[in-house]
Formats: sequence, C-alpha cells, structure tokens
Amino acid sequence: MNVSVVLFTADLRLHDHPPLRAALDGSRLVVPLFVRDPAVDRAGFAVPNRLAFLADCLRDLDAGLRERGGRLVVRSGDVVQQVVKVAAEADADEVHLAADVSAHAHRREERLRRELEGQGLRLHVHDTVTTAVPPGALTPAGSDHFAVFTPYFRHWSRQRPRDAVDAPRAVRVPDGVGSERLPSRTGIADLSPGLATGGETEGRRRLTAWLRSGVAAYEEGHDDLAGDATSRLSPHLHFGTLSPVELVHRARRAGGPGAEAFVRQLAWRDFNRQLLAARPAVASVDYRARHDRWRSAPEEAEAWREGRTGYPVVDAAMRQLRHEGWMHNRGRLLTASFLTKTLYVDWRVGARHFLDLLVDGDVANNQLNWQWVAGTGTDTRPNRVLNPVTQAKRYDPDGAYVRRWVPELADVTGPAVHEPWRLAGPERAALGYPEPIVELAEGRERFLRARKP
Ligand code: FAD
Repeated sequence: MNVSVVLFTADLRLHDHPPLRAALDGSRLVVPLFVRDPAVDRAGFAVPNRLAFLADCLRDLDAGLRERGGRLVVRSGDVVQQVVKVAAEADADEVHLAADVSAHAHRREERLRRELEGQGLRLHVHDTVTTAVPPGALTPAGSDHFAVFTPYFRHWSRQRPRDAVDAPRAVRVPDGVGSERLPSRTGIADLSPGLATGGETEGRRRLTAWLRSGVAAYEEGHDDLAGDATSRLSPHLHFGTLSPVELVHRARRAGGPGAEAFVRQLAWRDFNRQLLAARPAVASVDYRARHDRWRSAPEEAEAWREGRTGYPVVDAAMRQLRHEGWMHNRGRLLTASFLTKTLYVDWRVGARHFLDLLVDGDVANNQLNWQWVAGTGTDTRPNRVLNPVTQAKRYDPDGAYVRRWVPELADVTGPAVHEPWRLAGPERAALGYPEPIVELAEGRERFLRARKP
C-alpha cells in the first residue's frame, strides 16, 4: 500500500488523530485533504464567524503539516467528487475519515463508500475522533439511544476512552497534487469584533492554561456570568482542533471536583451526539412533540435578537453573542427560555439566530440544547420557565455582567441594574434603555396555558 488520502472534516488537528495515524502507518505517502463543500454553505452553515475560525484552523493545520515535511491540500466542490479526484491524482489506494453524526455526515460517508468501492478503493471510518465515546456504543435496554442524560452519564463515566495518539513526526505528501490557496479571515465581512482565534496551536495553548489555572474553580464558578470561568474550548471542540478523548484523559488526570464537573459537560456533548446520530431529524423536528402552537411575534423576536427586550440580563447575553460570536452557557439557557417560553416563539427561530453567530455553532449541541430548553427535547421538567430577574440576581449578583454588555446601564450601581423599571421616572428616562417588551408573569401564564394537556 502506497498512498492514502486523509479527509479532514471536524477534526482539524494533528494531535490524537487516529485517521492520520492509521494512514501513516499503512502508507508511504499521505494526502491531507480538506474540501470546502458548497452544500454546507447552501445549508446555511457557512456563516462569517465560523468561516473565519475555520480559516485560522486550516492555516494552522497547514503550518503544522509543513513543520513535518507535508502540507494541506485544499479543494472546493462536492466533497465526494473531490475526494475521488484527489485519490486518482495521487494514485491512492485508500481514504481515511472520522465518523460524524449529522445527516450530512451520514450521507457523505455513504456516498463516499459507494463511489470509492466502485473504483476499487477502500474507505476507513474511524470512531472516537469527534466524540470521546462513539454514538451508539452505549444503549439502554429496548432503545437505540439514551433519552435521559443521567443514566447515559452513569454508563459513560465507566468508559475508559482509548489512549490518545501522538502527533506524527513526519508527513510525506506526493508531488503533483495541487491545492487551492488557503482561505484567510482577512476580507470576511460581518465578523464579530471579539471573535476568538482558531487553530490547533491556540486550542492547545488554551487547554493547557485551562487545566493549569481554570478547571479547579470550574465547579463553583461555571455559572457566574461575570466571572467568565468556563473553558471557552467549545469552538475548538466543534472544529476538532482539540480531541475530546485527549480532553477527558487530561482532565481526569488533573482530578478534583472542578475537573469532574468539566468532564461531565464533555459527556453532555457526547450525549447530544448519540441523540442526533440516532434521530437525525431532531436537527429541525421536535424530539418530543408538545403540539405547540408557537406565536408568530416577529417584532418581539427581533428585539430579542438585537438585545433590546428591556430585560438587562437577556439583552447583555444577546449582545455578548453578537460581539464575541460566543455566549456564556447560563446566558444561552436564560435567553433561550425567554424566547421559547416567556415569548412562546418557536425554538427553531432562536436556534437559527444562534447558528448565524456562534463560533461553536453546532447542529448537535445547538439544536438539542434549544430543544432541551424549549421542553421539546430531553429535559425531564419540560415546563419550567426561567425568570430572567431571579436568574440575574443569582448568577450576576452585583450586575457586573450586565454593565459590561449594556452600556446604557453602566452607571446603575449594584443589583438595581437588573430591574431598571424600578428606578424613578426621570432617572429611568435618562438611561435610554427600552421598557420590557413583555410582562414576565403574563408570558409565563400564556406558556403554561398553551402547554396544558
Ligand atoms: P465549558 O463549560 O467549559 O464546557 C466544556 C465543554 O463541554 C464545552 O466546550 C462543550 O463542548 C461541552 N458542553 C458544555 N455544556 C454543554 C451542554 N449543555 N451541551 C453539550 N455540550 C456541552 N454548545 C456548543 O458547543 N455549540 C452550540 O451550538 C451550542 N448551543 C447551545 C444553545 C443553547 C440554547 C444552550 C443552552 C447551550 C448550547 N451549547 C452549545 C452548550 C454550551 O452552552 C456551550 O458548549 C458552552 O457554553 C461553551 O462554553 P465553554 O467551552 O466555556 O464550556
């Protein structure tokens, strides 16, 4: 066996990359390939923030390969046709690919298998590249997936993922396989100004810093909105610049309650992936239909998107999303609850807006978390409604998060910032901050009425 193609997708790294390792073990020459597929663009997933982060990732991957004597081959077009074309140009015998869970990934794998086998090439699909535990590996009696997180987590925690694989020392790419120019974030319009930098080098730097000085305080700090004490590794997990298997091992080695709580969140990621793998339709269809007759409220939805609902913590979180292309998990929970329950607007409206901006925007995690909050997913208390004022007082007790993101309220001191409508009339008018677009009690009752069996 002489030449292999490794198709990189959501695994843009060199460390702990089983497909690349297998290709190097079995072949003299390897073509590391990335294909920019217009089908992904057409489906609405190629949004500026993620395209910019992706460009960083591809440049960093290419640099890492060049340090090892190789390079990244970039093509655009239908992914299957491009793989077949590159395999022919390189005279390859086999193709390696990481398993993934979306409907798009399933179709891609099936088409690739058919096309390649038709031409006498072999396709190797590798598990545990994009998840720590493969979807489908854990199943309860009588079902093909877990519908509730707690029992899933009990099984998941007993697993010991495979050992992490070292990054290769050398990669030799055959001559004569042309590449397009690497994309660059320069020139991409409408980027969030505070967008994080992508790439494996940056991901590994963040991970090491996180394990050294962040994770120990994670258990008590992860919900503190102003403290910003979560790992911010989500875009790296989404693009695969970090390996979930390696993260689980390194966090378990770090030990302690913070690391345990962090590993539990990594299990949520696998949980959502096993759900999407088993039920690909839940990307757009209710996992558990509640027969909701969602309100059409375009003006209220727009106020929500723009962060001018008149509820400071909701507006702060929505503005953080626009500014950074990222939002704190507590913010995601309470803004999603506000849209789907207090305003009773379809979760798909909110999920689309998140996917338009989130740098970690991910079909499994985004759609299934939206469904979880909307009560159409796997939450065992589907009718709970988060009150944004109570949430704000608990998770942003002195209002620092709100003041950071809502400049109109920057001079309101202490927790009063969470209820500007309580300020005296003239003081309130001078702020230039909107009045609440809905009464919380009214919204809650409307939702509970609608959900009555
Ligand atoms: P940490 O708290 O440091 O957690 C570590 C990692 O665990 C995260 O990077 C992530 O990969 C995983 N994780 C954490 N919480 C969850 C969770 N609830 N479900 C699944 N995995 C989790 N996460 C995404 O990666 N992409 C999304 O598109 C996305 N959309 C969301 C939409 C809504 C409405 C909600 C409520 C949550 C969403 N999440 C999403 C989950 C979670 O909010 C983010 O993963 C987290 O805020 C990322 O920040 P972090 O890396 O600092 O997380």
